Amino acid sequence: MPTFEIHDEAWYPWVLGGYFALVIVTYLACARITAPYGRHWARGWGPTASVRESWIVMESPALWATVLFYSMGEQKLGRVPLIFLRLYQVHYFNRVLIYPLRMKGIRGKSMPLLVALCAFGFNILNSYAQGRWISNYGEYPDSWLTSPKFIIGVTIFFIGFIGNFWSDSILLSLRTDEDDRSYRIPQGGLFRLVSNANYFFEMVEWLGWAIMTWSPAALAFFLYTMANLVPRAKSNHYWYLKKFPDYPKERRILVPYLY
Ligand code: NDP
Repeated sequence: MPTFEIHDEAWYPWVLGGYFALVIVTYLACARITAPYGRHWARGWGPTASVRESWIVMESPALWATVLFYSMGEQKLGRVPLIFLRLYQVHYFNRVLIYPLRMKGIRGKSMPLLVALCAFGFNILNSYAQGRWISNYGEYPDSWLTSPKFIIGVTIFFIGFIGNFWSDSILLSLRTDEDDRSYRIPQGGLFRLVSNANYFFEMVEWLGWAIMTWSPAALAFFLYTMANLVPRAKSNHYWYLKKFPDYPKERRILVPYLY
């Protein structure tokens, strides 16, 4: 692993403070404007880029920038920090390199560059916040691995990861090929109960991350994920109800039986 040094003791807490402020700003923005990609694509958002390449590039900092910031930490060779890094990379290996390659029905489709740039910037910030915390500011002795926080958190994390992958798979299987742009009512899995099963499990996953690392950086990430996905889930749900007259009325928006 390459070695770099950084002296950010004075400003890391400010970055974390800014991250929590961003959670509020993001929620307020997303509650008013549904990000114009996917089913909510809209004209008038400036230059665009192809969907698959945008996903790969905008999410990629979670792989390379996280390793970069992680490698600057004093505990980068610690057993627990390395396990955290690997778990984070498992999620983002899927999100950056596998998920975009599994997308269907996107030939000729695009995404506003603005959306991709916002996501890219967020991923740099998040990589910095998570990478620096787990390898430098957090204190994780080997005994952390047998603590209730780790055991409960890692269990929730894997439930979230598997559920998110499974739910994404259900959605991606609704289309036949690159030219099939149609939307259908998702069936099976947690979609029996909610319209946005993939978002629900994404939130579960980062809740698990926040519990297992017990860190302000991970809490900010969990809250940010909710700020981003709760309003979008609501837009998706009402979009389904409008588009499909036979959409199951008992389905909730995001959280089984509750919301
Ligand atoms: P969506 O559920 O909107 O779409 C996922 C994929 O499935 C897209 O390719 C979409 O096509 C397709 N799809 C969705 N619904 C249908 C349907 N009814 N019929 C046919 N195809 C469908 O998810 P997002 O694109 O918003 O997010 C993708 C992943 O990224 C999710 O797992 C999500 O949890 C995660 N994510 C995480 C965020 C975070 O803050 N941590 C933020 C945003 C996403 P199309 O694009 O053409 O609509």
